[in-house]
Amino acid sequence: MENNEQPVSETMPANGEDLNPLHLTHAQFQRAVEFLDDIKKGIIGFLMAPKRSISVCFPIEMDDGSVQIFHGYRVLHNRVLGPGKGGVRFHPDIDLTTVSALAELMTWKCSLIKVPFGGAKGGVRCNPKELSKGELRRITRRFITELGDNIGPHTDIPAPDLYTNEQTMAWVYDTYDVMHPGKNNLPVVTGKPLDLGGSPGRYEATATGCLYATQRVLSNHLIEGMETVEGARVAVQGFGQVGSVVAKLFQDAGATVIAVSDSQGGIYDEDGIDVEAAEHYKREHGSVVGLPETKTITNEDLLELECDILIPAALGNQIRLHNVEQVKAKLVVEAANSPTTLEADDVLTRKGIFVIPDILANAGGVTVSYFEWVQNIENEEWDLEEVNKKLRLKMNRAADAVIDRWRLLMKDYEDSGHDSINLRTAALVVAIERVANVTLERGIWP
Ligand code: NAD
Repeated sequence: MENNEQPVSETMPANGEDLNPLHLTHAQFQRAVEFLDDIKKGIIGFLMAPKRSISVCFPIEMDDGSVQIFHGYRVLHNRVLGPGKGGVRFHPDIDLTTVSALAELMTWKCSLIKVPFGGAKGGVRCNPKELSKGELRRITRRFITELGDNIGPHTDIPAPDLYTNEQTMAWVYDTYDVMHPGKNNLPVVTGKPLDLGGSPGRYEATATGCLYATQRVLSNHLIEGMETVEGARVAVQGFGQVGSVVAKLFQDAGATVIAVSDSQGGIYDEDGIDVEAAEHYKREHGSVVGLPETKTITNEDLLELECDILIPAALGNQIRLHNVEQVKAKLVVEAANSPTTLEADDVLTRKGIFVIPDILANAGGVTVSYFEWVQNIENEEWDLEEVNKKLRLKMNRAADAVIDRWRLLMKDYEDSGHDSINLRTAALVVAIERVANVTLERGIWP
């Protein structure tokens, strides 16, 4: 895709399934709202609409002397609970629709995990794989400059997401700091390098939270014969910041990781993959594909493997109508954002396959981002045990709240014909209810 094209969403595949991320997010929202009897109609509209959407367009001088145009986006969905919080994504498919949907998801995630933030998201449409470090630095700096005071330590706080990392966040901080000299600007962005105000455990936080949420859900005896991850056969799609650490942590916790993948394809070994060896191999060869003594598979194959736990940790819309019937896992843990479409979600529910939804499964990232923000404001540095202890507490409380609400919904609506009652709906009910209540507690202004 050329960078100077107008933003578009690829939303309608051949089988007619609607993949528009905003439609899917809103459809999930509407389903959850059906279970909130007391919510005011006007509040529903307010909770669906983004507070602020920004599109910017800027030129960058490339290494070869040419000039390219880039499009960037930042959406603040809701700030009832606090300043906006959400990742910055560098990806060729990004557009305002995708960013708006992801920003809304962040509102529900922050509410569910109980951190004092609203939802936000941003990104630049580009292909980082084709850009040099210098080009990425110039894109980041120019994007942050274009956003101006629409980000800030108490306004809207970016973090890493797909194809951005600690280095990107260091550039975000540095750019903002140059624009606002003489202040403690560290809390303007999270996911920074450790020696630049990053928090111990932030790099691993999303994966760590994913493991904690899975352990908590399994300990509630929802899935017959699987009360722990120990001995579970696990397949992980995506091998980046989230997927590679997820694979390692699940393996350390006693699971057998039978398959992992990245954008080039996947690898499979029914006796278990040595995750550390896969990491080394990827570092050297750019992909996990080709790791000796493993079988090469496609990303499609990985999703359809005979396994206990399937963990999508890459892109959105991976489990959809055309492949969902072939999913054989007993539990899907959504480490990625929106990896399951609405229609696929229904099929999984009907098949009795549990899904730990993204707003719970990957909430560890924003939770430790919140811890980083607090440490930056207080000029403190916590140690890793403290961070992980606090993280586990938050993940457990959120998982319990979701399971309790799911049990209540199952009981109350047993004979009602509702077939959308699953952990996702329960998680959204808890999250939306909280934001709706706080909206009214604060009062409609003026
Ligand atoms: P990353 O850029 O570090 O890694 C992405 C991985 O996905 C890479 O291994 C890449 O090769 C792989 N990938 C790309 N296209 C693929 C495809 N078509 N099929 C299979 N694999 C593919 O990104 P990340 O930070 O690990 O984020 C992964 C997901 O987790 C995203 O959905 C992101 O929104 C979500 N997430 C990330 C965080 C965080 O803290 N980084 C927090 C919450 C949610």
